[in-house]
Amino acid sequence: MEKKLFKAESKRLLEMMINSIYSQKEIFLRELISNASDAIDKIYYKALTDDSLSFNKDSYYIKVAADKENRTLTITDTGIGMTKEELESNLGIIAQSGSLEFKTENELKDEHEIIGQFGVGFYSAFMVADEVTVITKALGSDEAFKWQSAGADGYTIESTQKDSVGTEITLKIKENTEEENYDEYVEEYRLKSIIKKYSDFIRYPIKMDVTESKLKEGSENEYEEYQEEQTINSMVPIWRKNKSELSDEDYENFYAEKHYGFDKPLAHIHTSVDGAVSYHAILYIPEKTPFDYYSKEYEKGLELYSNGVLIMNKCADLLPDYFSFVKGMVDSPDLSLNISREILQHDRQLKRIANNINKKIKSELQNLLKNDRDKYVTFYDSFGRQLKYGVYSDFGANKDVLQDLLMFYSSKEKKLVTLDEYISRMPEDQKYIYYASGESNERIEKLPQTELVSEKGYEILYFTDEVDEFAIKMLMSYKEKEFKSVSSSDLGIDEKEKTETEEKENKDLFDFMKNILSDKVKDVRASKRLRSHPVCFSTDGEVTIEMEKILSAMPDNQNIQAEKVLEINPNHEVFQSLKAAFENDQEKLTLYTNLLYNQALLIEGLPIKDPVEFTNDICKVMA
Ligand code: ADP
Repeated sequence: MEKKLFKAESKRLLEMMINSIYSQKEIFLRELISNASDAIDKIYYKALTDDSLSFNKDSYYIKVAADKENRTLTITDTGIGMTKEELESNLGIIAQSGSLEFKTENELKDEHEIIGQFGVGFYSAFMVADEVTVITKALGSDEAFKWQSAGADGYTIESTQKDSVGTEITLKIKENTEEENYDEYVEEYRLKSIIKKYSDFIRYPIKMDVTESKLKEGSENEYEEYQEEQTINSMVPIWRKNKSELSDEDYENFYAEKHYGFDKPLAHIHTSVDGAVSYHAILYIPEKTPFDYYSKEYEKGLELYSNGVLIMNKCADLLPDYFSFVKGMVDSPDLSLNISREILQHDRQLKRIANNINKKIKSELQNLLKNDRDKYVTFYDSFGRQLKYGVYSDFGANKDVLQDLLMFYSSKEKKLVTLDEYISRMPEDQKYIYYASGESNERIEKLPQTELVSEKGYEILYFTDEVDEFAIKMLMSYKEKEFKSVSSSDLGIDEKEKTETEEKENKDLFDFMKNILSDKVKDVRASKRLRSHPVCFSTDGEVTIEMEKILSAMPDNQNIQAEKVLEINPNHEVFQSLKAAFENDQEKLTLYTNLLYNQALLIEGLPIKDPVEFTNDICKVMA
């Protein structure tokens, strides 16, 4: 029989699985049971609408059977089964989402991360098994097939016999090693506890033959063992249970079982509403940013159930974009099973649910911010950018909802602070909320433009995300305090007199310099804000230099330019050199002016038009 090779990505993943990077190998059972449950779902829903399929609740179940002697574990389901082609395409390749392409090997921080990117479900069997055999018969087919693989080197498929529709997966459990006791995966009590732990809410019975003992007939102290088929899981969906019955661990397990994420959720919201609209919902705020979160591939949405029956995997209408990181599910009896996507969008009940959920999420986030700052900061590191996009998009329609959830790094506190905290610390004479933009906190820290504001003792918020300034422009003010860039030409700080005299006295010098740079800057002025640095840019008007950078990097670059003003520190010794050159040597003044201009560009991280000329200019000064 011909052995087929796994597709390259699958092979790599499989090798990782076999070498077992998951610390909890036991989750393989959760994965296989969840696949079985999905397969039963498929046939179950077909039966609801197809009269030719007889519907008998008892005929849907999952069975787990361990054979200690042969060291095998078999998971059988009465689900929809797989055709030969499906076997080939479902189990012969995994990385169908193509998610492997997103990251090259070097970019992967650790291998856990790659696992986190897949529904690796089926393959996790190889964490505990040397060989996996799948025997399956698809609904509507009279042929059955056997798929077999001993790991990374490939798999075989052949025809076989199977009476009923469904799938039977047999694992040949590995021998024990020094680190790992694989025996436990054929131990009844252990299997029972794994099923209870991860799969208690599976909608179909998970059956197992369990050994019980009873008094021997006619005897008073002799016991005999017997086997009895038991249903291990409670089958009541977690969302229908009372919050008080559930532990954090239950919610975490549900999160993992549902593949909402591979992290541990930071927080969960469990809510049951009975009124104009009734529903149960369990929502999660994840801890980590999904790898594709800020890409087009990411789809937001909650699972939507109607009375316990899943009607949609990702109902996007339940979540606003700015909360698109939220995972979870909603179950409502008020929604029709056969509702189409188009109708659902306009469904009033659904809108009400979405509204309520939206408020719940906001209040949960506020709650975290107030009562568990560390967690909130973790959340904000992962998803803060999305909130800022939220402020910016839809022309600021949602800014009132979101502004209190924003945080920025503070020059004073050296950590993230809220706008409210900033305002509450403002000295009485401070008129504006000051911010500085740049690539990183370290770079902003060194910006010459911050000197005056810092000297006044005012706090500065550091903007390092591209969206920051745009979001703030949309916000305009917070609690009636306007935002102001430290690079703005008018800082709103009264320090004028001295500089104004300098400006007047040296008007000809500044005019001369402005003339040299006429096509590059709007003006050359004596700086009020500089203390120790000789030169910097400030900007007139709405567009800052950071915004110019971001806009010019956009595909539809409209060549929007900041109105740059070259500011010279009149108290710096360089200014004396400028004055002297203006008197004696105008060629030198041109040289100095160009040098200072290029220095200001460098400070902003802007490209210098002619770097060779710039270095030659420096040499001229040195010569
Ligand atoms: P995922 O479940 O995340 O799609 P898996 O690797 O676990 O990934 O499974 C791949 C596919 O194989 C499933 O989507 C399903 O179509 C099919 N499959 C797996 N197990 C079963 C089963 N017990 N019955 C029918 N189909 C199955």
